[in-house]
Amino acid sequence: MLEVCDIDVFYGEAEALHQVSLTIASHEIVAVLGSNGAGKTTLVSAIAGVLPCRGGLISLDGQILTDLPRHRVSAAGVAIVPEGRRLFTQMTVRENLQIGAYAPEARRKMQESLTEVHELFPILADRADQKAGTLSGGQQQMLAIGRALMTRPRYLLLDEPSLGLAPIIVDTVFDLIERVHQSGISVLMVEQNVGRALEVCGRGYVLEEGRVVMEGSRDELLGSDRVRKAYLAI
Ligand code: ATP
Repeated sequence: MLEVCDIDVFYGEAEALHQVSLTIASHEIVAVLGSNGAGKTTLVSAIAGVLPCRGGLISLDGQILTDLPRHRVSAAGVAIVPEGRRLFTQMTVRENLQIGAYAPEARRKMQESLTEVHELFPILADRADQKAGTLSGGQQQMLAIGRALMTRPRYLLLDEPSLGLAPIIVDTVFDLIERVHQSGISVLMVEQNVGRALEVCGRGYVLEEGRVVMEGSRDELLGSDRVRKAYLAI
């Protein structure tokens, strides 16, 4: 279980997250929904060890992750796919995947991980020698997810995986996320595309102005007036 308990995160003196709590049990897909500026990127960055917490606690199966540097959070089993993918576009698909396995433990298992990523996403094997920048948007998102999987995570954090992609490609990306989940990895995704996120998640949280204002099962969120009016325009 990945547990976030009452975390406060600041940019300078500006508080971006106010006592945010959430949990992700193993084998879950959990969505964090919210509009622009709600604090979604800040939340996944704090969990991944990219941003420090000024208060609260983050733990994974009892191991405290709060204040650990990013590489130690990664070694503990939590990987992040950042917003915008941040691939090395001039490097090949294979090189991008290899870079994912930079930590010593991941490096030792690089070949095994590469085989697993290729089994999950065969196109990445077919395109191994192609420059990442020449892939389509959906394939680039696949590569970004594949690169995160090279750290052999148990929990995968996805920051706006569908952002900037054409609707048909968005379908493919959500299909990839379900494939990753079926391979045994728990997923936390933050999304502005609330409708699509609610199709794949089991539970979710709504973040507004840095606070969790609602949580519930997929059906509870789909049935809530607040979600329907503010995020689904129903
Ligand atoms: P988006 O979908 O636009 O990325 P978000 O929900 O991910 O939105 P965050 O990027 O986490 O929101 O931003 C939360 C708040 O923190 C916003 O008010 C934003 O202006 C502020 N913020 C984000 N990054 C910084 C930064 N580097 N310095 C100062 N304030 C920031």
